[in-house]
Amino acid sequence: MPVRATKRGAARTALSGDFDVLICGASFAGLALARELRATGARILVLDRYEIGERQTSACAAPTEWLENLGLAASIRQTFGSLVVHTPRAHARWPLGWTFSTFDYRELCDLLWAQRGDGTEFETAKVDGRSGTTVHTDRGDVSAPLVIDALGWKRNLGARLVQPPEARLSRGLEVHPGGAGGDLELWIDKRVIRAGYGWSFPAGDEVRVGIGSFDPRDHVKQPTVALADAVGRPPVGYQGNWIPHRLRPAVEDGIFFVGDSAGHCLPLTAEGIRTAFYFAIALGRELRDVLDGRQDRDAALARYGAFSDAHRWKYESMLNVQHLIPRLSPRALALVTRLYSRPVPALWSFRHYLRIAPPEFALPGPPAAVSAGAAAVAA
Ligand SMILES: Cc1cc2nc3c(=O)[nH]c(=O)nc-3n(C[C@H](O)[C@H](O)[C@H](O)COP(=O)(O)OP(=O)(O)OC[C@H]3O[C@@H](n4cnc5c(N)ncnc54)[C@H](O)[C@@H]3O)c2cc1C
Repeated sequence: MPVRATKRGAARTALSGDFDVLICGASFAGLALARELRATGARILVLDRYEIGERQTSACAAPTEWLENLGLAASIRQTFGSLVVHTPRAHARWPLGWTFSTFDYRELCDLLWAQRGDGTEFETAKVDGRSGTTVHTDRGDVSAPLVIDALGWKRNLGARLVQPPEARLSRGLEVHPGGAGGDLELWIDKRVIRAGYGWSFPAGDEVRVGIGSFDPRDHVKQPTVALADAVGRPPVGYQGNWIPHRLRPAVEDGIFFVGDSAGHCLPLTAEGIRTAFYFAIALGRELRDVLDGRQDRDAALARYGAFSDAHRWKYESMLNVQHLIPRLSPRALALVTRLYSRPVPALWSFRHYLRIAPPEFALPGPPAAVSAGAAAVAA
């Protein structure tokens, strides 16, 4: 477990006040949203129970172009142009046609935070719930007309509690032993995990080895230890979490949800970093229009909710493939694995996969109305 840098005891003073925007959660979604609002001059409070970058929430691999476009390239540890896939009967290298990079979580968070606006503050506080647009924390109540839940899978500001294992969640666990490697590797093999996959993601001087299970009832600790053992790495530096694998409402009762809280992590691959960036940028563009007086909050709620919903069929398609993979026989899995080692099907599929949340969305864009409309059409 990481050392908790969060202030304790007397250092934890009372918190109160009214702000223009309250962003609850300071990880990928919350920090990308704060960055997107940097030029508004708004009074923005970002809350998290941990200090920024204190607690890594993933294996930290994302498309390189997304990291570059957000000014985060300095956090990159290693870059890969292909994926090495292991199944019971076939092993293959899948060309991507673009690159994935592993990065350092703390450095990435610091780089995002450095791009905030002058009126943006951060406080460590545990968010306990809300009444309307007043958020209750363990340090007191804070209010804003624009409240955002970027708190991850638990969706603390939603009306209903998300409770594993009944909820539509996957689960992931990984270890971070020191060492080096040259390939992003995936294992799709029931001997590794019944329904899901294992991974080994090198990141400079460490390798992130983990297991993702599509079934929240299946335990992942023993499979993670076994995979680490199989690839000759000690099981040290555990970190894990639940991962939503179904899109949820992105707006509810006047509150905006983004990232895992809105189920924006992609099913099948559990890639949730670039989608957290993507939807945070889309939300930021809507909120900018509210702060600049070009639209009211209700319009922003409607437009952002519609933008998120426009992606539903892509999420459902990927969820269908997620359901299908564990049912494939070893022979069928081998056929698919070999097929994707060929450039034409691989490059076509991975290009479409990247388009679900394309990296150029991070570049300075036109006003929300234009960009949201264009993206909805593309979706
Ligand atoms: C083991 C594992 C490996 C993964 N690897 C990858 C990967 O390589 N690439 C990828 O794209 N995706 C990966 N994912 C998925 C990815 O981590 C998530 O989709 C992503 O973190 C979502 O970002 P977020 O900002 O929405 O939420 P989170 O990153 O979960 O952040 C939520 C924030 O809210 C804070 N918070 C939560 N509750 C409270 C509270 N009550 N009060 C105050 N603060 C609170 C947390 O401290 C945290 O900072 C992985 C997931 C797991 C579990």
